[in-house]
Amino acid sequence: MKSYRKELWFKTEKRYQLVHITPQVEEAVKESGIKEGLCLVNAMHITASVFINDNEPGLHQDYLEWLEKLAPYSKEGYRHNVGEDNGDAHLKRQIMGREVVVAVTDGKLDLGPWEEIFYGEFDGRRRKRVLIKIIGE
Ligand code: ZN
Repeated sequence: MKSYRKELWFKTEKRYQLVHITPQVEEAVKESGIKEGLCLVNAMHITASVFINDNEPGLHQDYLEWLEKLAPYSKEGYRHNVGEDNGDAHLKRQIMGREVVVAVTDGKLDLGPWEEIFYGEFDGRRRKRVLIKIIGE
């Protein structure tokens, strides 16, 4: 079995930002040389997510507005916010998920129709990373 590891680094301009990362993940699959296997993509930080959905800007705005209703940004009102202000970001990350696993078939990501991979940042403007791990033959 072969295995391949890569980190993607991000520093978003905004506190909240959804970044399309399918091309970078496809590139990692190519670099790995793996034809049949599994590709894990996970956020390495507890205030960021990796998720799969449609690459459609209206939906992304809907996500951000929905998350803001569920866990509005506030310095107060979160017990976590003792010396920091990212209580909302931890909750946003939880609901959007930590990781995705995509099958690799014939050397390519075996995504369904309209499926694309995104990095979800909820406490940005600093350097953070995503881990890609690919295993297979
Ligand atoms: Zn925190």
